[in-house]
Amino acid sequence: PYIGPYIGRFAPSPTGPLHLGSLVAAMASYLDAKVHQGRWLVRIEDLDRDRNVAGVDQHILASLQRCGMQWDGEVTWQTLRTDLYEAALAQLGDAGAVYPCSCSRKEIHDSQLRLGQASSALVYPGTCRNGLAPGKAARAVRLKTPLRTAPSPDRVICFHDRWHGKVCQDLAAEVGDFVIRRADGFWAYQLAVVVDDGAQGVTDIVRGADLLDSTPRQLYLQALLGLPQPRYLHVPVVANADGEKLSKQTGAQAFDNGAPVAQLLESALLPAARFLGLNLQADSVEAFWRAAVPAWERLLAAKDQSSGPRSAT
Ligand code: GLU
Repeated sequence: PYIGPYIGRFAPSPTGPLHLGSLVAAMASYLDAKVHQGRWLVRIEDLDRDRNVAGVDQHILASLQRCGMQWDGEVTWQTLRTDLYEAALAQLGDAGAVYPCSCSRKEIHDSQLRLGQASSALVYPGTCRNGLAPGKAARAVRLKTPLRTAPSPDRVICFHDRWHGKVCQDLAAEVGDFVIRRADGFWAYQLAVVVDDGAQGVTDIVRGADLLDSTPRQLYLQALLGLPQPRYLHVPVVANADGEKLSKQTGAQAFDNGAPVAQLLESALLPAARFLGLNLQADSVEAFWRAAVPAWERLLAAKDQSSGPRSAT
């Protein structure tokens, strides 16, 4: 069903070593690239310098190689690509799509209360859209989302997710004007990820479902920047016993780059594959991938069957 070249990617933030949760995302994107005989890129998303942990990028890369997941081309680091984000911001500025914002989180929360919005997600009420209040300094840069009064087809952004099917979000009501350059001066994830996926020619994004509700923001940015829209597949997210997304903070066990092959298989590769719905057996890394790639292809084919158009009979 795929025509033309395939470029996928894995885009870890170097905030902690690889763990079962991030391995699942890496594995799914790698398998999907292999099934489609595509390229698989690795991009280190290190823009939030406050959260980066020194050396973790190299540790993650070593883990991927230890797992037999070899990337194509050069690894990229977002902190080396800020000229691209600068250019994108200028383009959005020329289009009149962005504005400086002086609001603190507390001010946004307070105005939500005044508006009677008891929402836990911070939907920006648009305070600075028509200019900063006198005496207020710009902190962040926000992107205008379609106006609340716009006809709904413009506000509601839908896409087809290869795992979840049709997904829609009303950007104005559920997100509001969102930050593309943060108050601390860092480039926001939403802008950087869109610019990089576009610049690197990524055709297929396979990642965790925790990013499902970021995708409409990214589609909107792609449209404004004139970038092509990739295909999406969001895999389920691994949770800990308390139902929290697995991360370093919620007790994920760090990947052990020195583990012997048997342990690598039993405690990392096979469990990650099982989580994705692939029940495999393998006694070497090579045997694992030889089994995993066709198994992923079968799993996708079964998904296509079950979510495809049904006939009336
Ligand atoms: N850097 C993001 C993360 O580690 C993933 C970005 C993406 O795949 O779009 O959660």
